[in-house]
Amino acid sequence: MSELNLILLGPPGAGKGTQAERLQEDFPLAYVATGDMLRQAVKDETDLGRKAKEYMDRGDLVPDDVIIAVILDRLSEQDTADGFLLDGFPRTDKQAQALDEALKKVDRRLTAALLIHVPEDDIVRRLSGRRVCPNGHTYHVEHQPPKQDDVCDIDGEPLSQREDDREETIRKRLQVYRDQTEPLVEYYDEHDILHRFDGTRSPTEVHDHLRATIATLRMEDEL
Ligand code: AMP
Repeated sequence: MSELNLILLGPPGAGKGTQAERLQEDFPLAYVATGDMLRQAVKDETDLGRKAKEYMDRGDLVPDDVIIAVILDRLSEQDTADGFLLDGFPRTDKQAQALDEALKKVDRRLTAALLIHVPEDDIVRRLSGRRVCPNGHTYHVEHQPPKQDDVCDIDGEPLSQREDDREETIRKRLQVYRDQTEPLVEYYDEHDILHRFDGTRSPTEVHDHLRATIATLRMEDEL
């Protein structure tokens, strides 16, 4: 059976989480979102959560060693054996190399890096209007409002704004993206696995393009 090992790349607020939700309905992929894992750890007050919180609140990246250990552990779980969709990892050159090396050791490799591109001004507008439910479902006050104000359509949980979605922190996170994560675009381009998507299109259009690309990759892999 062919396995799809995918990463979603793009600035915070590009719509990676929204797209990942939809893609899981199309393909049997284990979805691994480091941001969600870290927020859960903060909520549960685990050792990891205590280590990560101050970095996250500032809009900084959690240290490489900490996050690499978490993700390699997660990728050794059985549900990722037929393929995974990584969201929010890797975010630095060191993380990308650690991932490549770990996959190589078990005779696996990345199938594709899916880049969702959105200009910075759009991002600030998007993120400051973003609202999330405790289970990770995402809304936008203007573009994708819930049916009832501040209540999740799916599970009825209250919606709130993420601590790090305030404008000053958003600007910081974008700077961190530009400095530390954007160079990975070139890294994956050089490895010939980069695919670009225009994230200013509607979520449905972006989803259609992603789904078509992934379906093609799967077909090519099965030939
Ligand atoms: P996200 O939900 O992906 O925007 O992640 C929220 C926050 O979690 C980030 O701003 C970082 O502080 C932290 N984080 C998530 N993924 C990583 C990663 N791969 N490396 C370092 N920090 C991360």
